[in-house]
Order: sequence, then structure tokens, then C-alpha cells
Amino acid sequence: MNAEELRQQLEYYRDLGIKEVYRRPGGASGAGLPACAAEPTAQIQTTVASPAPPVALPPLAPAGETLFQILEDIGDCRRCRLHEGRNKIVFGVGDEKAPLVFVGEGPGADEDEQGIPFVGRAGQLLTQMIENTAKKEGINLKRSDVYICNVVKCRPPGNRTPEPDEMEICGQFLYRQLLAMHPKAICALGGTAARALTGRKEGVTKMRGRWFQWKDIPVMVTYHPSFLLRPYNQDAKREAWEDLKKALHFVYG
Ligand code: SF4
Repeated sequence: MNAEELRQQLEYYRDLGIKEVYRRPGGASGAGLPACAAEPTAQIQTTVASPAPPVALPPLAPAGETLFQILEDIGDCRRCRLHEGRNKIVFGVGDEKAPLVFVGEGPGADEDEQGIPFVGRAGQLLTQMIENTAKKEGINLKRSDVYICNVVKCRPPGNRTPEPDEMEICGQFLYRQLLAMHPKAICALGGTAARALTGRKEGVTKMRGRWFQWKDIPVMVTYHPSFLLRPYNQDAKREAWEDLKKALHFVYG
């Protein structure tokens, strides 16, 4: 069981009113759990029934948490190696009550500089895509009406894809953001975000234009705007516009 599945199971137990869980001697160790699990916020405690090392539980999302509280908890985060090269943590931007949330992969150079997601060329394209598609479809929507964030909050060096452990560690914040906002739908931008949200392994070209699920929230997958900036990707651009139309009609139609 990975950290995410364990967290969900513990939350399920908490909802049932179970306040303590026990670890069997010789059971699974805490290896592979998020490093930040050393600072659990869980109400559930563990009772270790043997001299085995203490179990590090992944933090549970406190009920009724706000984005501001999550941001405060992130603080000057050093929970994964991505803190080493960052200038600013890029938490998210937009209306926290928005029924539609866009999730990308991670900040680039412009985002790292400004602390705001999707402000570079790819971000400008995303803004155009949202606003122009909405306008064409007769929906009154500005970029500031949706919420935009990433799977990881610090820029990976050289804009490389985030490593699985970085996504697992930082993913707890995305998880908590989505729980706090509980939008009507999520739009995953690119394969990394799509795989992080759906747990699937396919590439974005196989997943785009289809609905998946994050908990009980529908997830539409489409291309990352930076992929669409390449001149030879004009077909992909048309497809992304179609995907966005589906998401907008589902949420605002
Ligand atoms: S990427 Fe996320 S977990 Fe890693 S240092 Fe930045 S905020 Fe912390």
C-alpha cells in the first residue's frame, strides 16, 4: 500500500470514529512514506506492539482546512530536494471557491521568479485557452474565476519532470488543496498531472479528452500548454481546445 492509499484508509477509519490503529509486529515499515510524515497532523495515533521502529504516518487532511492554513503549513518548506534551487514556492492562484481547478506539473523559471503558476508563455496560452474557449461557448469566464496550481510547488532544476518521491511528498499539499476546495471538476494539464491525479500509467495522448476520477471529482485530461507551444503541435492544439470545451460545459454549461 502506498502513502496515498494509507492516508485514505486512515481517513476512512477516522470518519468511522476509530481513533487508534495498531501495527502488527513485523508488518510493513514506514519506508517509502513521505518524508514530511515525520510531522504528522493525524488525530489517529499508533500503538506499536513490539520494539519495531515507530510507524511514520502520512499526515491526514484536517477537516475544514482552508488554503491559507495549508499555505501556512507549507511555510519555508524543505520537505523534498526541490527546495534547494527554488526562489519562490508556487502554491496556486485564483478563486478558491472555483468549481474548476487546473493542475499542471510544476513551476518553470517565470513562475519560480514570481511565485505564481502559469505566468510564462505557457501560462499566457492557458489564459487564452480558458478565456477564448469560454467566450466562444457563450460562457462568461476569466482566468481569475478558476483556480490554477501544480503537482509540485517548487521548480525542478532545468524544468525536468518531478521525481516520483518529490511528487509523493509535495502531492500531499495538492491533495489537501483539492480537498479544501472540492471543485466540481479538475482539468489535468499534461501527463505528469494526469498520472498523479488518476494513478494511471498511460501517456497523455491516450488519456486526453477522457474523464477520470480523483476521489469523487471528475478529472478531464488534456495537454500541457507548454507542449502546445511547439509549432508542429497544431493538431494537439485543436484537441486541447476540444478537451477544454468538454470541461467548461460540464462545469458551467
Ligand atoms: S516541492 Fe513541495 S515538498 Fe518539495 S520543498 Fe517544495 S513545497 Fe516542499
